[in-house]
Amino acid sequence: MNATNKNSFAFVQVAVPTPLHQLFDYRWRGSEAVVVGSRVAVPFGRRSMVGIVVRGLSESAYPANKLRAVTEVLDSEPLLPEDVMSLLEWASRYYHHPIGDVLCSALPVLLRQGKPAALMQREIYRFNAQSTAEPPSEKKASLQFSVFSLLREADGEAVDASSLANLSPRWRSAVKPLVERGLIEPDSSMVLPSNSAVDTGPVLLPEQQTAVTAITSELGSFKPFLLNGVTGSGKTEVYLRCIEAALKQQQQILILVPEIALTPQLMRRFQRRITGCLVSLHSALNATERMQNWLLAAKGHADVVIGTRSAVLVPLPRLGLIIIDEEHDGSLKQQDGFRYHARDLAMVRARNRSCPVVLGTATASFESLHNAATGRYTELNLTQRAGDATPPNMALLDIRRRPLIEGMSDRLFDAIEKHLAAGNQALVFINRRGFAPTLLCNDCGACADCRRCDAHMTVHAKRARLRCHHCGSERPVPEQCESCGSLELDRLGYGTERIAAALEERFPDVSVARIDRDSTRRKGALQSQLDAATSGEARLLVGTQMLAKGHHFPGVTLVCILDADRGLFGTDFRALEQMGQLIIQVAGRSGREEKQGSVLVQTRNPDNPIMQTLVTDGYAAFAKVALDDRRLAMLPPYAYVALIRAEAPDMNSPMRFLQGVSQRLLNPPVAGVSVLGPVSAPMERLGGKYRAQLLLQAERRSLLNEALSRLTVNLDSLPNAKKTRWSIDVDPVDLF
Ligand code: ADP
Ligand code: ZN
Ligand code: ZN
Repeated sequence: MNATNKNSFAFVQVAVPTPLHQLFDYRWRGSEAVVVGSRVAVPFGRRSMVGIVVRGLSESAYPANKLRAVTEVLDSEPLLPEDVMSLLEWASRYYHHPIGDVLCSALPVLLRQGKPAALMQREIYRFNAQSTAEPPSEKKASLQFSVFSLLREADGEAVDASSLANLSPRWRSAVKPLVERGLIEPDSSMVLPSNSAVDTGPVLLPEQQTAVTAITSELGSFKPFLLNGVTGSGKTEVYLRCIEAALKQQQQILILVPEIALTPQLMRRFQRRITGCLVSLHSALNATERMQNWLLAAKGHADVVIGTRSAVLVPLPRLGLIIIDEEHDGSLKQQDGFRYHARDLAMVRARNRSCPVVLGTATASFESLHNAATGRYTELNLTQRAGDATPPNMALLDIRRRPLIEGMSDRLFDAIEKHLAAGNQALVFINRRGFAPTLLCNDCGACADCRRCDAHMTVHAKRARLRCHHCGSERPVPEQCESCGSLELDRLGYGTERIAAALEERFPDVSVARIDRDSTRRKGALQSQLDAATSGEARLLVGTQMLAKGHHFPGVTLVCILDADRGLFGTDFRALEQMGQLIIQVAGRSGREEKQGSVLVQTRNPDNPIMQTLVTDGYAAFAKVALDDRRLAMLPPYAYVALIRAEAPDMNSPMRFLQGVSQRLLNPPVAGVSVLGPVSAPMERLGGKYRAQLLLQAERRSLLNEALSRLTVNLDSLPNAKKTRWSIDVDPVDLF
């Protein structure tokens, strides 16, 4: 129900995308109905802006002759329905982020710019059963083959361009020759993208069945579930059955995943199993596709929406189920601008809409474990791997006083050799890209540093560049020390590039695939690397956390983790949690089919109790111990924190500004809220800016909220405010 009240409003309050924490009053044109959640064009300063109507007013607190009039009404129906409006208004208060920015960031860019909210004609393709042309070969033209197979399996039904685009961003290059050869036919009639299942799933295991029954029996009411399933236990299968049940009830299903571009396998799996209108929302879509898919969801045409973080804000008139896959993943938190956590917004949204939420993971976030322990979430467990797979054996590999070649111990090489000899694949994980993280001068001890950050430059050997992984600056690798001119430069430490080179040298007969952000920058590169890993063509895989995300490489039986120790001594309070999650996720790539998998964790701290707990007793036991530490330190989830960050080109402004903020928070103090700092950020200089921060720690959420409310009024009047850029991060994922 939207508040459309004819004729009685003389004014409207409009959310305009500005950094100001307020709505703006405008005169309304007498005769038209005020549509809450619709877009209007309004004059703002000397510009015209697109804003969103938040409410109609009979009276304004400002004199009418001072107010300007709405220039244009862009929508006759609400673009943001009531439930999304109230979710966003709640989020603006909770995250203390300006309402205009919050509301407008929920719209796709083209709608934010004022483009008409109209669905386009769809571009579709069909399989041509009459064609006698030679079908494409899977080996020689794999993308053509995928496109062709998808259409053939659709059995004469039209397949939408967006489904083809899900296969690969280069899909058009594969469609063209197929059309030319008459194997498929284009069509452009007005149809909705429809997907038809070509597969039914396996018979569920008892634990899967229990989970599906528990979830589906709650359709229609709010209930959060934590689906705790070890890697390979069949969580996705549980999602699919719940989706089928919700579809039967004509409900829309929202699925949030960490990064769609990284998980093409998952997307294909959904396509094979779901019958209905399936759309995706992620950053690899162009602006037009994004708007189209957003509108399909918002107008209720899409049955299943699978998207990344921001999809949690998409209007869904028939919403009946929310699934968050890999709920522990850091990418669910927006790290700049409107800093929301998609999991937390999903929870609020599900409560408003009375629908269940499923949080699926093998390595639950400490927040969710805490919520399960206190009874807020219902825990469902999948303790066994599905199919014939058994859990991998994990062991610590003590590398103290062992000979190391390029950071890898002799025993590690032996293990790799053994697994390769048995015809299997091995995966080597190191969460650092590039060749070496440091270039050190042996004569004067200087390191090649970034000129804009307090950080070393990483050596990228193939491209012969130094690169800062924090701000992206680059320069050629110098031949001489930049401080003393010495030629004695040492490349210190290891990255994926170096490890891959070392493995190629040691195992010259096998093909090594490196998967990290550098090796997959080119369009289609990730897909071809993943294909090589899945097919077994690449026998050795080297990569960063990109390799940890949900992939299924059937032939991998050995996973080697090189730099596990880093997480033990991380400065951030979540470093340990993230280390545990990463190790278990990477380990989960091993032995996913019938062959037994092994995991070797190289460490210089084999006696570290928390590391031992993780490796011997598993993630749950590890989390229990680590959570106790959080409790003692009064850190989340046992306390509520917010971080106020400030940055400026000069060193002093951020500190001075935050001192003023601190004064305001302490005079008078809010009982139960501690103000810590200001201190310089762990990396003080980043991208040429100096950074400082202030931490608020509270026993209760409401107290934190009360303290933060003081900050959004008139903070610009504090000393150095004009020179400083500042932000509030509620429930920060890191304190960096
Ligand atoms: P997760 O999402 O927990 O990592 P998946 O759903 O990807 O697990 O399942 C892992 C593998 O087990 C997949 O190949 C999947 O097809 C298979 N699988 C899942 N459930 C079953 C089942 N009930 N019977 C047989 N195989 C299954
Ligand atoms: Zn030097
Ligand atoms: Zn830098």
